[in-house]
Amino acid sequence: MKRYLEAIRKVVPYVPGDQPNFPDMIKLNTNENPYPPAPEVQEILKMSHADQLRLYPDPTSHELNAAIADFYHVQESQVFTGVGSDDVLAMIFQTFFQSDLPILFPDITYAFYPVWCDLFRIPYEVQPLNDKLEIVPEDYFRENGGIVFPNPNAPTGIAMPMSEIERILQHNPESLVVVDEAYVDFGGESVLPLLDRYENLMVVQTFSKSRAMAGMRIGFAIGHPTLIRALHDVKYSFNSYTLNRTSLSAGVASVKDRPYLEQQTAKIIATREHAKQVLAELGFQFPDSKSNFLFVTHPDCDAHELFLALREAHIFVRWFDSPRIRNYLRISIGTEEQMEALYQFLRQYLKK
Ligand code: PMP
Repeated sequence: MKRYLEAIRKVVPYVPGDQPNFPDMIKLNTNENPYPPAPEVQEILKMSHADQLRLYPDPTSHELNAAIADFYHVQESQVFTGVGSDDVLAMIFQTFFQSDLPILFPDITYAFYPVWCDLFRIPYEVQPLNDKLEIVPEDYFRENGGIVFPNPNAPTGIAMPMSEIERILQHNPESLVVVDEAYVDFGGESVLPLLDRYENLMVVQTFSKSRAMAGMRIGFAIGHPTLIRALHDVKYSFNSYTLNRTSLSAGVASVKDRPYLEQQTAKIIATREHAKQVLAELGFQFPDSKSNFLFVTHPDCDAHELFLALREAHIFVRWFDSPRIRNYLRISIGTEEQMEALYQFLRQYLKK
């Protein structure tokens, strides 16, 4: 084989959820928000900024970082923004997990973590969730090169109370602990208040879920200014202009509308709680989710077969071909109408 072909980096990439495109589809497979983003975001997008596109965007994302800092009552020097939280997490893995010690994360969790480890050659060890699919804090009380987990966890939807995360922090003064709060706005408890006491804590959030801006790609980290400076150093060594002009202005507009965020997340939480009732009546079992999805299994049906039958009906949910969770489906919470169509389908399917 030619040397340049032998020198290709071999990686097994993360596989994102399908992005099907049918006019009649019900898309409950990638935890998107079924509602539009804040009205002011829509206004910004309607205005033409095409004449500005010849100019580079602000590499420091100053206005957006300041708006995020204001919203969460932190300093701008504590905020780092990137192209979705995937970009932010990838930067964090590259910047902070450079020791020979393995980093720790759960066996059932966001499937991108092991992919970044392989890409950046970071050693890792997975810690199994217990039989109730919960993270066991004690599993993280040991020497490690860093810790990362989502809270609520994905794809289980289970939220850990702040006190449990604080126990992990107390046992790990020498490690960076990254809490991926992609879904926290749907009823979890953010650990942002712990930042004052734990300089080794980094919180990551996204505009993709509660702010209904998955297509815009905005994510951010909040942490101690020393850590944020280190992230910026790595970012500027890689690509200075990550967020584009449109994202920067739309992001600011979204952050400024707190009531809209609260109102929309309340709506999705209400739909989720109703979904729990209906699905339980249909015989589904699931952990108690505090996110915008439910992770369900049914004693009388095969999850993969149900997944295929739903897909046939243009109702898209997510099935993971991985150990322990093969008989589960992850269903994102849609509008009331979309969920009604799902219940209708399931009632018929289970009668057979
Ligand atoms: N963390 C978790 C736990 C997720 O489920 C996702 C969504 N796939 C992300 C991070 C990344 O989301 P985004 O890049 O859209 O911010």
